[in-house]
Formats: sequence, C-alpha cells, structure tokens
Amino acid sequence: MNPDVLVIGGGNAALCAALMAREAGASVLLLEAAPREWRGGNSAHTRNLRCMHDAPQDVLTDAYPEEEYWQDLLKVTGGQTSEALARLTIRASGNCRDWMRRHGVHFQPSLSGTLHLSRTNAFFMGGGKALVNAYYRSAERLGVAIRYDAAVDRLEIDQGRFLAAWLGEERITARTCVLAAGGFESNREWLREAWGQNERGEWPADNFLIRGTRYNRGVLLKQLLQAGADAIGDATQAHMVAIDARAPLYDGGICTRIDCVSLGVVVNRDGQRFYDEGEDFWPKRYAIWGRLVAQQPGQLAYSIIDAKAAGRFMPPVFPGVRADSLPELALKLGLDPERFMRTLNDYNAACQSGHFDHTVLDDCGTAGVTPAKTHWARTIDTAPFFAYALKPGVTFTYLGLKTDTSSAVHFGGRPSENLFVAGEMMAGNVLGKGYTAGVGMSIGTAFGRIAGTQAAQSALGQGAQHANA
Ligand SMILES: Cc1cc2nc3c(=O)[nH]c(=O)nc-3n(C[C@H](O)[C@H](O)[C@H](O)COP(=O)(O)OP(=O)(O)OC[C@H]3O[C@@H](n4cnc5c(N)ncnc54)[C@H](O)[C@@H]3O)c2cc1C
Repeated sequence: MNPDVLVIGGGNAALCAALMAREAGASVLLLEAAPREWRGGNSAHTRNLRCMHDAPQDVLTDAYPEEEYWQDLLKVTGGQTSEALARLTIRASGNCRDWMRRHGVHFQPSLSGTLHLSRTNAFFMGGGKALVNAYYRSAERLGVAIRYDAAVDRLEIDQGRFLAAWLGEERITARTCVLAAGGFESNREWLREAWGQNERGEWPADNFLIRGTRYNRGVLLKQLLQAGADAIGDATQAHMVAIDARAPLYDGGICTRIDCVSLGVVVNRDGQRFYDEGEDFWPKRYAIWGRLVAQQPGQLAYSIIDAKAAGRFMPPVFPGVRADSLPELALKLGLDPERFMRTLNDYNAACQSGHFDHTVLDDCGTAGVTPAKTHWARTIDTAPFFAYALKPGVTFTYLGLKTDTSSAVHFGGRPSENLFVAGEMMAGNVLGKGYTAGVGMSIGTAFGRIAGTQAAQSALGQGAQHANA
C-alpha cells in the first residue's frame, strides 16, 4: 500500500495525526516500531493532559486561563520557548477534549496526592495505555492501516521533500509524511555522547534509567539533522526525574517515581545535601531532580523521610529502606554515618517552627543552613525512618526538529511541503528546558492534530498552510 499520508511512530502524536488525516479523507499508513503489545511509546505511560479553561469544566476545577498557563511555561523554560507555538499549544488544549472523547478517551478527576493537579490537568481514565488503546481502536475502525514491528531506519528526502521511508529492504512511498517517532532518550550511546565525561571522570549517562519505551532511539531525528533539517534545542536538555534506583532500565513508568523529596531531605553519596528540597510545589519541581541527581557523584542520591511523612505521598512501587534510628539508616544505605549525621543534625537544628501545610507554600523553612529548605522543613526525628535511593530517570529528550505553526519540518529556514513533525520530535520548540506536568501530551495532541490535517491537505492537493514561525 502506498498511502496518501505515512505516519511514522505509534504514540499519542502519531495517533492524533493519523486520525486527523483519515478524518480529512486521506488514506493513512501508520508504522509503529514496537510490537503490538508494547505499542504506544511513552504515551502509554502518561496520566494526564494540561488544559487551559476559563471556568470549571467536567473534571477540571476552577479556572486555568491562557495567560496563567503561558506564564507557567515561561517560568519553567526560563524564556526558552516560542511564544507563538506555546500559545497555539495552550489554546488547543482548551478545545481538544471533545475530539478526544469522540475517539474513545475518557477522563476522570485527578487523584488527591502530592501533585495538586485538579485545577490544571485532566486525567485519562485508565491512564495513557487506555488512551492509546482507544485511539488504535478508532484508527482501525476508520480504516487507518497499521503495521507493528515496523521501525523505519531511513528516509529518502530530496531538497526538503519527502519521497519514501525504508524498512530494511522495503521502500514505502507516500505523498506526505508525519514524523512522530519520539525523542532519542532510549539511545544510550547518544545520551553518553551528549552528556560526555564529568570532572570526576564519570560518564553520567551510563547511570541513567529510561522511564519509558525502549523504541525511541532517535534514528530518524539523527538522520534528518545530518541531512540538513533545522534543529531546535540542546542534546543535554530533557525531562529528567529522580526515580527509584532499583527501577528497570526501560519502561519503569510512573510507579518508580519517588515523590517524598519535598517532605524530607535528599543527600548524595557523601552524605551531603545539595539543593532546596522545598523550593516550590512538587509538580513544578519534580522534573529538575533527575538533572540534580545526575550532577552528584555516582549519579546517586537518597531521599530521607521520617514517620511524619509516611502516607503523605504517592507510595513508590518498592518499599523504602527502613530503620529505627538515623545512624542505622546511614549504615543500611552504605553511607558514612558521621557525615550523614552531621548533615541531618545541621538540618534539624536549622528548622524553624511554623505551620506545616503541604498544600500551600507554607512558612516552615530553615535558617542558617546551606542549602536552605524554604518550605515544608520539619525536623527528621521520628522513627521509623525511611530512605529511597535515587537515580536520574530520563522521560524524554528536547533536541528536535524546528517547526512553525504548520508543523512543517524546516530545511535551511524553509518549510517542507510534505514532511511534518509532531510530539517529542519537536517538543523542544515549546520546551527549551524545564517542564510543567501534562504539557508533553498537550504538545503532542496539538501538533499531532495539526500535522495530520496539514499532511492530508498537502496529500490531497490543497497545499499546506505555512505560517511564519
Ligand atoms: C513514565 C512517563 C510518564 C509520563 N506522564 C506524562 C503525563 O502524565 N502527561 C504528559 O503530558 N506527559 C507525560 N509524559 C511525557 C509524554 O509521554 C510525552 O510527552 C508524549 O507521550 C510524547 O508523545 P509522542 O507521540 O511524541 O512520543 P511517544 O508516545 O514516545 O511515541 C513515539 C513512538 O514512535 C515509535 N518509534 C520510534 N522510532 C521509530 C521508528 N524509527 N520507526 C517507527 N516508529 C518509531 C515508538 O515505538 C513510539 O510508538 C510521560 C512520559 C513517561 C515516560
């Protein structure tokens, strides 16, 4: 089959593109690198979508206006974002859910817990796995052809025009193509090259774990960048979370995240604290801790809490190391008890009395200790004590292909007429660095839908709409 539109990838962005292209009347072939049982990429691990709304809506409380969403993005990216593409994403997040529902996605209110997301994020009933299953069902029903175990290994491009995709010896032609094959987070050699060697002679990326799919190896991203496609972002920038050091190398997913950082302290292998654990609400900070741990010796750290914190955070899949005293905890972790106790004693002595409230930026801070803990600083003094060893967990990388509001891939500043990009492969246009929970799916949904529409229009001879970036 030589379709009008070829979609490469099998996660949220690819499925949104395939569904939109098919709805616009194009014949569509979707190539997913993974076998059927592992289909859906990182999208299968997700839970929610960040949505703007001006008034309460079904599962969303209160209001989350465009301007507030934009200011949140501006803050976390430190300005490394395209305002035009960010605002497009934000606006699209306000009106995509009816379309999602039509394709079988169900929403539910947020669970209570550490992430304070009921106002800003719509949760998928059954999580991302149910979402991608619903999209696959809908795509099959609409006649989208789907092939699994179909990792495209190269593209044929002539002067910015897509000609064909190669699967081994097989050449697949199409009028237009949507690239939605994820970032390069599962390519450990590329991560190693990007992160290099540090001053201690370590190769930090060797100790990274990959939270999601093993299939996002960046093969096509690398090839396109070498072929002159315009790049966006920096290869070391990624969404990186501190996860349980016992997590598997791939696909540990959400349950390996350790969410008690803001309720205790975090020390490195030398028993030293290295960052303000209570700087801001956890959803606004969880994605910086992977990078912080990556900078520590051995890329290891330990989240330490006492009995007062137990039950106040999403329980991790593996139980913590438990001890009846802090020195015993240090010994169980293999840390030097003297240095560990000096850090814990200094911290405990610095905690100021205040009114502890984990739902607001409370007045429980430290005084006279570096780094300070600015909120939720309570003494760690009540047995039993618990510790979780942390490693950097890469969620997805930000180096990608530059695009504009039409989602076209650019070559030398010029948009391709028939090659489009969506999802992680272009998320760096909106996320130069940093993260705020739920925006990955907002970007993939917005640009997947645009890419599918543009690819169909271009294939059916109506010409893609190019806007200036
Ligand atoms: C554990 C975890 C939890 C997350 N939770 C959330 C959340 O709650 N909310 C949120 O907004 N974001 C979340 N994210 C981020 C989110 O998953 C991504 O931003 C989003 O899913 C990206 O969608 P995508 O379609 O671009 O990539 P993916 O869903 O990763 O899809 C990429 C697809 O491309 C395929 N592929 C790769 N290479 C090739 C090739 N050469 N040929 C053919 N196919 C190929 C892969 O098999 C895969 O199917 C989470 C990520 C992880 C890992």
